[in-house]
This record gives sequence, C-alpha cells and structure tokens, in this order.
Amino acid sequence: MKGIIIIGGGLAGLIASIRLASEGFISTVIEKKKYPFHRVCGEYISNETVPFLKTFGLFPEKFDPPNVNQLQLTSVNGKEAILGLDLGGFGVSRFSFDQFLYEKAVGLGVSFLLEEEAIKVSFEGDNFSITTNKRTLTADLVMGCYGKRSKLDIVLNRSFVKKRSPYIGVKYHIRTDHPSNRISLHNFKDGYCGVSNIENGKTNLCYLSHRENIKKFGNLPDLERAVLYKNPYLKYLFNNSEFLFDRPETINEISFETKLPVENHILMLGDAAGMITPLCGNGMALAIHSAKIASELVIKHLKQVNFNRNLLETEYSTQWRSSFKNRLRAGRQIQRLFGSEWASNLAVNLARYSKPVASFLVAQTHGNPF
Ligand SMILES: Cc1cc2nc3c(=O)[nH]c(=O)nc-3n(C[C@H](O)[C@H](O)[C@H](O)COP(=O)(O)OP(=O)(O)OC[C@H]3O[C@@H](n4cnc5c(N)ncnc54)[C@H](O)[C@@H]3O)c2cc1C
Repeated sequence: MKGIIIIGGGLAGLIASIRLASEGFISTVIEKKKYPFHRVCGEYISNETVPFLKTFGLFPEKFDPPNVNQLQLTSVNGKEAILGLDLGGFGVSRFSFDQFLYEKAVGLGVSFLLEEEAIKVSFEGDNFSITTNKRTLTADLVMGCYGKRSKLDIVLNRSFVKKRSPYIGVKYHIRTDHPSNRISLHNFKDGYCGVSNIENGKTNLCYLSHRENIKKFGNLPDLERAVLYKNPYLKYLFNNSEFLFDRPETINEISFETKLPVENHILMLGDAAGMITPLCGNGMALAIHSAKIASELVIKHLKQVNFNRNLLETEYSTQWRSSFKNRLRAGRQIQRLFGSEWASNLAVNLARYSKPVASFLVAQTHGNPF
C-alpha cells in the first residue's frame, strides 16, 4: 500500500479522500481546522456536480437543500434583470456539507490529522517528506487541496504569491424573505454580493470587495453603509434581515491568477490549482470535479504498473487544462462587467434585452454535468 497524503480537508480534499477510500486506498488528510466550521463561500453549488455526488452517496439530501433555477442581477444603481438558469444549482452551508463529507470519509476509514498545518513539502528520490507544525511524515503521493492561498505556496515558490491580491471576502448567514429558487448578484462599487438560500430557511449573503474599500472606511459596517447601501436591493436586505452570526466570516488575498495543476510533483486540486471568480458560482463544482479527475488517475496509477508518476502528472495536467482552463479565463473576463456603474448597467441590459448572449456568457463558465 502506497502512502497518500492530502493537504487540506475542504471540498477537494474530502472528495478525493472519499473517492480513493471507495476503491480501498486509504489516505491521510491534514486539515488545519476542526469540523464543523464556517468558511467564506456563497454556498451555491452548481447542479453539474449532482450525478457524481449521487453516484457516491454524497448528495446532501438530508439537509433538503433549496433548488435554484433563477438569477437576479442588479447594477450598482439598482437596475434589475432576471434570467433563467439552464443548469441551476442547490444551496447548502459549508458548515453542514463539509461535516457531512467528513463523517462519510471517517466511515470509509480515511485518517485525519485535524488542527494540524502542513508547513513544508519536499520531494526527493521518489518520496515526499511533509512537515507539519506537529511532526514529519513521508508519502508516495501528495495531493495539494489547501485552497486559494497557503504558506505552502510561498515555500513552493509558486509565482502567483508574488502578486498581492486586491480582494477580500465577507460572509453572513441571515434570515430574510429571499425567494428559494433564486440566486441574486447585486453589484456595488468595486465589488458584488451574492444572495441565495441554504438549509433550514437560512440565506447566505456573501460579498467580494476591493481591499481599498476597507482601507478607506476602516470597518465593515461603515463600508457597507457607505458603498453597498447605494444599491437599493442591498440596502433593503441589510435593513430587513436578521443577522445570525456574532460577526461575519472574512478572508483576504483572494487571487484569480493562473496557477499550475502540478507543482513539485504535487497534484493540485480545487482552488490550489486555480480559482474561478466567485460570481460564476461554481468554484465548489470545480473543486469536486478536479478531485474526481485526480483521484481516478491516482487509482489508475496505484493499480497499473505501466501508469507511472510521470504519466500520472502529465495526464492530470492535460485533463485539468481541458476541463477548467477556459472556464477560469471566461470567469475573469466576465468579472470585468461587475463592480462599476457603467459595466454593471451593461451586464443588466445584456441580461434584460439579449438573453441568449447573457445565457451564452453564463454557459462559458459552467461545465457539463459529470
Ligand atoms: C467570496 C466567495 C464566494 C464564493 N461563492 C461560491 C459559491 O457560491 N459557489 C461556489 O461553487 N464556489 C464559491 N466560491 C469558491 C469556493 O468557496 C471554492 O472554490 C472552494 O471552497 C474550493 O474548495 P477547495 O477544497 O479547493 O478549498 P477550501 O474549501 O478552501 O479548502 C481548503 C482547506 O485547506 C485547509 N488548509 C489550508 N492550508 C493548509 C495547510 N497548510 N495545512 C492543512 N490544511 C490547510 C483549509 O483550512 C481548508 O479547510 C466562493 C469563493 C469566495 C471567495
């Protein structure tokens, strides 16, 4: 049995560990936090993931996730368009979904090192050495599932870490009167806010803003009142909802720079391989899909003598690029239509008066069901 270490137990890491365990290959997942926990995420999952999740008993049916088939788009100054979503999605909190997947993985025998952080990975001979804040481990294979940015990226000298990213993310759970079949994308100056329902009648409100906004206003409530409230839909939501967290979840340094799917022989999955802009609402689908591709190739590598490490890495890079590269690029381009008055008006007008063009743009960021 070869040793497999998965660094990061988010969606990509959990799904990869489960898929490997379902074929009898037990991995060790190193996760710096302890389940369950909240993360900054819009918590809308594209339906392209449903066939895979159902095949492996991973669809979170027990949370009765709301079905979403409609997009509401509003511009910075509050113009509105409504668009049907061909594929649609469902809503479930990461707090519940990740815990659900973690329990599935434990049930299949996956071993977890929780509240432990990988700080260094090196590859020598044909083996990896992984140093955490608690111990040093060795492995034959390492899957990097540690999300958008980690100290490991600096250790691995990945080129994107040299550029600072201007974006911050903020998430709340609220109770409000948001229609359960709708995802809303509300623009504001230098940012946008997604709103969609999750389990137990709750609503996720999650926004991406420019770091300069925070510098200028000093704190989130002042930024929200001065900038987000200019969009009347957001002002209504903030003033007519019950906010369920003591304080919001926040993250910074959100980078959409291109990355490589294999670095120093580590197979990178999910955001660690490349992050799609959140307005596309399918970063989680990409994480799940890349975990499916990588774990199936790892299974092939472990079962077939002639499918060596070199072929595994080449095949994963090829499949990753053909499945996701264009979607990430389309997401970056579409994001340019967000966060300014004129561009968001253009986006709303496109959605209102050129529905086929708008649907085509949405389709560019989405994949086929897998
Ligand atoms: C504002 C915002 C809104 C979004 N909205 C949506 C949405 O509505 N729909 C959607 O599909 N996607 C959305 N996304 C994207 C989505 O959240 C990510 O694409 C997805 O979570 C990626 O999964 P992952 O497994 O790659 O990483 P993550 O889910 O981030 O998991 C990475 C894990 O690695 C752990 N970790 C990190 N470093 C280490 C280390 N050194 N050692 C051990 N553990 C480590 C972390 O604690 C974490 O648990 C959004 C993103 C943002 C920023």
